[in-house]
Amino acid sequence: MSQRKIYYFDNNATTRVAPEVVEVLLPFLTEHWGNPSSAYRFGSDVARHMEVAREKCAALINADPREIIFTSCGTESNNTAIHSALVTQPAKRHILTTAVEHSANIKFCQTLAKRGNAVTFLPVDSMGELDVHLLAESIRPDTAIVSAIYANNETGVIFPIEEIAALCRAKGVLFHTDAVQTPGKLKLDVKSLGVDSLSLSAHKLHAPKGVGLLYARKNTPYQPYLVGGGQERGRRGGTENVANIVAFGRAADLALATLNDENTRVRALRDRLEETLIRSISGTVRNGSKEPRLPNTANLSFDGIEAEAVLLLLDQAGICASSGSACTTGSLEPSYVLTAMGLSSARARSSVRFSLGIYNTAEEVDHLLKELPPIIAKLRAMSPAEREAKVAAHRGVPKPALFS
Ligand SMILES: *Cc1c(COP(=O)(O)O)cnc(C)c1O
Repeated sequence: MSQRKIYYFDNNATTRVAPEVVEVLLPFLTEHWGNPSSAYRFGSDVARHMEVAREKCAALINADPREIIFTSCGTESNNTAIHSALVTQPAKRHILTTAVEHSANIKFCQTLAKRGNAVTFLPVDSMGELDVHLLAESIRPDTAIVSAIYANNETGVIFPIEEIAALCRAKGVLFHTDAVQTPGKLKLDVKSLGVDSLSLSAHKLHAPKGVGLLYARKNTPYQPYLVGGGQERGRRGGTENVANIVAFGRAADLALATLNDENTRVRALRDRLEETLIRSISGTVRNGSKEPRLPNTANLSFDGIEAEAVLLLLDQAGICASSGSACTTGSLEPSYVLTAMGLSSARARSSVRFSLGIYNTAEEVDHLLKELPPIIAKLRAMSPAEREAKVAAHRGVPKPALFS
């Protein structure tokens, strides 16, 4: 793999594993590799470290450690919350969610709809904001769960989770939030939020891919999604991903420690990036409301050009950014999140997301600010046909074989 300098502005897709996280993880691959369910000390010692990680993850969101269920990813946590609500309340078959959830929720709900469940995807306005009154009116007697994303991965727009939770509680309906984008960016407190369940994913907070958690409030009816051994106190079968769970615990500490940096220095970098681009490149507009919004995310449309061409030229300059969510990259569909906000297909296709993080420096932002304007100018000087040919040529590059 090439070792050239990477300018990484895609922290909403995944994050660099922090060096201090790698350090605590490695001994669980090399020395402490016992099964945490084993009765002998070589296993139970491992279990003890896993419980320390559980306490750290609980502290990140002000939960009780017994309310934390480790999973394999954010997707599994989201699916589990909805699945559990349906199987513990068999008479209720309606799911109320929004049109701007992560695909982990959208696709799962579409699958459930095909299996006979009723699903409502609430609309958002042109700023990406939710009408909470409409949400309240959309709760039905047979609504099993309401699930709403806390902070949007594409625009950074933050939903009023505390208000929605209070409303659901008043109506006696379970409420889940996908909070995967929030650790280290927002202060998290499940008690003051009042949610019944909440999902996190470790790789969005400087820990490895392949581990997530579901917070399930004490006394919330619960049924496992993965059925097997008695791990996680019977709530999630499958031998725990110990090394990554230990890493997750360390990353939870780090997220608390870097909350201030993210909301001051990183926010200022994002604001400078966004404001400079809007000022210096004509036809540049922000997508989504300015506030309340994550401090690290900028989603911008560059009038008249396709994001795919921009990303291609940025990539050649060593800059990583994305259009829409990474999960839909490679498809030519405009982002469903931006489309749900009523943006035209052309504007949605011209949108680029820059998501910063604690490892970004002012020099890196300077580099992006130097590289991007000439890229936009160059693309605008091309005819649509020339641009299309360029992108098509890139698309034609064969994908690496899956099993080579
Ligand atoms: C990344 C992400 C997910 C999915 O998490 P995985 O661990 O990759 O499955 C879910 N929701 C949001 C908001 C995300 O950003």
